[in-house]
Amino acid sequence: EKPEFSFRQTLHMRRNFIGRSCKLHFEAAPLKIVRASRQYLYDDTGQEYLDCINNTSHVGHCHPHVVGVGQEQMAKLCSSSGFLNEQTTMYAKHLISTLPESLCVCFFLSSGSEANDLALRLAAAYTKKKDVICLDGAYHGNLGTLVEISPVRYKKIGSAHQPREWVHVAPTPNTFRGKFDAKTENPGLLYANELIKVFQKAYQDGRQIGAFISEPVISASGMVIPPENYFPCIYRYVREQGAICIADEVQCGLGRCGEQFWGFQLHNVVPDIVTIGKPVGNGYPLAAVITTKEIADSLMDFTSTFGGNPVACAIGRAVLEVIENEKLVSSAKNVGKCLKDGFKAIQPKHPMIGDVRGVGMLIGVELVMDKESKKPAREAAEILIYKMKERKIIMGTEGKDKNVIVLSPPLCFTTDNARYVVQHFSEVLANIESEAASVGLTNLDEVGSTNVPLDVITDEPSISIHALSDEDDEEDEESSAAKRARYEEVD
Ligand code: PMP
Repeated sequence: EKPEFSFRQTLHMRRNFIGRSCKLHFEAAPLKIVRASRQYLYDDTGQEYLDCINNTSHVGHCHPHVVGVGQEQMAKLCSSSGFLNEQTTMYAKHLISTLPESLCVCFFLSSGSEANDLALRLAAAYTKKKDVICLDGAYHGNLGTLVEISPVRYKKIGSAHQPREWVHVAPTPNTFRGKFDAKTENPGLLYANELIKVFQKAYQDGRQIGAFISEPVISASGMVIPPENYFPCIYRYVREQGAICIADEVQCGLGRCGEQFWGFQLHNVVPDIVTIGKPVGNGYPLAAVITTKEIADSLMDFTSTFGGNPVACAIGRAVLEVIENEKLVSSAKNVGKCLKDGFKAIQPKHPMIGDVRGVGMLIGVELVMDKESKKPAREAAEILIYKMKERKIIMGTEGKDKNVIVLSPPLCFTTDNARYVVQHFSEVLANIESEAASVGLTNLDEVGSTNVPLDVITDEPSISIHALSDEDDEEDEESSAAKRARYEEVD
């Protein structure tokens, strides 16, 4: 099937018509992905890529059961919410059955950001206190309120950005590069104490904290797992102060952590509010807030046009069914273990692998300039993901310094996929390490500029959609081989 627009035209239109701040993955040499199936993506030349990052396509890209149910419901009824509908109530019932008893009321929305924003509103309505405590390595969404509780985004807002007076920021309990490392005795309690100090300082300043929000596994910091005792200690303290605990399960919920269905269960705590998004619709916009009856009843009014529409909820149910039928939680555990063990096994021979961490299918591999200084190897991480892309494996980077390679693939990922990824990762990293050693480890910028494939057409004049003629199309239509050559040329 011939695409309407060539790769080049699509890129031109993207650059002209879509906000520049909306970054593409592989900005310097983007991919035009035209279809996907299971854990594989296919570009406009038909090339297959192994997808290690699309946690949104939780049960596999375009899973036939999910697609079938969505199509069927789309043809039957796709109204905005506001009518009594079985799909919505059945989905709520099914979702609640996966959670502890106290979490028994749902609100449906269309994105993780909306869910977190509603969670903050619920917390303020219930506690009558508006202030929030969050972690410095957190990301909770793109709405105004959420950017304010997502310190990893401050840098992007502007270097002078200061937290708002209602936001209180505690250190991320990172035992690899935080204040207390894994060798410290009981780092969980020490980090909990840091948060308590932030809480107390807020009180001294006359502020009233209503909620503590955190992911159970802090994905934006590169899959940091808070140490033992951290969450139980904090949840207890927060509640003693008359505040409530919100677990952002947008990344780690729905079985991704392998051991359990929800991330908070890894820490033996039960939150007062849970927010979910990303994976629940397997790519279809769907999100939810699940909370206690008392907290839910404290909000007088709430409407969402699309939240809880029958198509979204039918899809949500189908996703839960696939997770159960295909035993994807235990698969996340086993395949995730294979992935993590694989990275752990290659760690000793790679001077740049500082840390391997994660749980289930949420893995982070932190790259450092050397294991003593732990200086973040940001350029190496960037080069690595471009080099892996050349080997048709899609990975991403996370963390404040973008030096953590993260893997969070669809849960149909296999142990063969896992071994394949680790093997290629090791080969690519070995090349980067030897190049880095030959130009000097502190000079990685130079390696970066010669190896990261820069997009050769970035500086072409911008064109308007009206200027695109059939002729342009023919001229711009590149064969697969020509496109590959274009990439190779710049390498
Ligand atoms: N919370 C977390 C932990 C996230 O990772 C994200 C998205 N990356 C969000 C909230 C926001 O979700 P959305 O982009 O669907 O609004």
